[in-house]
Amino acid sequence: MNRKKFLQLSSLGLSAVSLPSFSPSAQKPIVISTWDSGMAVNAAAWDILSANGKSVDAVEEGARHIENELNCCVGLGGYPDRDGIVTLDACIMDEHANCGAVAGLEQIRHPVSVARKVMEKTPHVILVGNGAQQFAIENGFPKEPAKLSDDAEHAYRDWLKKSTYSPVINIENKKQNGPFAPNFFDDGTPNHDTMGLVALDASGDLSGAVTTSGMAFKVHGRVGDSPIIGAGLFVDNEVGAATSSGVGEEVIRICGTHLVVEFMRQGMSPEQACKKAVERIVKRDPVKAKTLQVGFLALNKKGQYGAYAIQKGFVYSVRSGSENKIHPSKFLI
Ligand code: ASP
Repeated sequence: MNRKKFLQLSSLGLSAVSLPSFSPSAQKPIVISTWDSGMAVNAAAWDILSANGKSVDAVEEGARHIENELNCCVGLGGYPDRDGIVTLDACIMDEHANCGAVAGLEQIRHPVSVARKVMEKTPHVILVGNGAQQFAIENGFPKEPAKLSDDAEHAYRDWLKKSTYSPVINIENKKQNGPFAPNFFDDGTPNHDTMGLVALDASGDLSGAVTTSGMAFKVHGRVGDSPIIGAGLFVDNEVGAATSSGVGEEVIRICGTHLVVEFMRQGMSPEQACKKAVERIVKRDPVKAKTLQVGFLALNKKGQYGAYAIQKGFVYSVRSGSENKIHPSKFLI
C-alpha cells in the first residue's frame, strides 16, 4: 500500500494500522522499516530472511526495492534540492560493524548498493558527491538521469513559487495541525519519507540500511542523518539496531541511533530507548521541537522492536513469521 492509499483508508476509518504491540518473546527472523512504504520493502527483505539468508543481504534488497520504485522520497524520483537536483544519501551496516555510505550522490539508481561496495571494497566509510559517483561508475553502476516522480515534481513547482534561498531546516512544517503533522504538505503529499530498515536473521545477526533523497528542497550539498553511521543508522550485533526518519539535523546533534542502541545496552526496551532519544531532542529546545518531527525505530537482539516520535504521524512496518503489519508509533507531543 502506498502512502496516499494509506491516507485514504485512514480517512475512511479503514486503516490497515494495527494496535501497537510489544513482542516480549524472541522472534527471528524479523525485519522492521520506517513508514507504511516499508511493507513492500519488508516483503523484499523477507524473501531473503525467510530462506535463512543474511540480514545484510536482506536490508540491501529491501532498500533496492524502494529505490526502484522511483517514489517521491527515495531514489531518482525523490524530492530535489533547492536547485532542482536530486542528491541521494544511503548507508548500510552489518553484524561485524562493517559499514559504508554515500552522500550527495547524483544519477545513480541504487545508492544503497554503492554504499555496500564502499563497505566491501574500500578502507573508507563514506564517499560523497562526485567522488561517490565516480566510484559507482567504476564499479559498474550506470549513470542515469533523475526522473522526478509526479509527487516530487508537483511539490517542487509549488515550493518554487515562494522559495527563499535560506537554510531552513524545518521545511516540513507547512501543515502543523493535520493528523500527520508535520510530515505532509497541504495536499497530503509527504515531504520526507526516508527508508530505514533493520533486520535480524535466522542466525541471530543484525544489519541495517537507509536510503533517501533527503529533506525536500534542501540546500545543495546538505547531508542529513541518513548516511551518517550513528545518526541515521546504527547496528551493534551484541545489543540491537536502530534507524531514524525526520529532521536529520536534530538526529545528528544527538548521534540519535547510536544513543538508542546504547540505551538498549543499558537494559531498556526498544520503545523505551527510542523514547529517551526523542526526549533528548525535545529537552534541548522544547519550543523548536514542537515544530519538528523525528522518529526512531529500533530492534533488539531478541527480535523485540519499538518506535517513538516527537509528534503524531510516524508509522513503521513489521514483517516476521507471525506479523506483517503497519504500526503507529507512540509520540511525545
Ligand atoms: N532524515 C532525512 C534527512 O534529514 C529526512 C527524512 O527522514 O525523510 O535527510
